[in-house]
Amino acid sequence: MDRVFLFYIFLLVIGCNADCRVYLCNGPSSVAYHKVRDCKGLRRCTTDVEVIDIAIAKEKGKRECGYCYQDNRVGKSNKASLIPTKRDIK
Ligand SMILES: [Zn+2]
Repeated sequence: MDRVFLFYIFLLVIGCNADCRVYLCNGPSSVAYHKVRDCKGLRRCTTDVEVIDIAIAKEKGKRECGYCYQDNRVGKSNKASLIPTKRDIK
């Protein structure tokens, strides 16, 4: 059985909705997927931008964009590895 096909079945089962849609640049230098369409990382994209499921993006070997997923990372752990933003300096 085709692995990708099984993956689609899995997505149907979990009921993927708008929350798991991500933006992916089709360019050859694209390495990450984006949470928002107007992300500054995506502005550099010179080709089409496709909207796909986050699971498919991961399947393609893409990682989270450092710009639009930064807030998520702060919430999880290793704050020390992040470059301090103006918001942190008081
Ligand atoms: Zn981004």
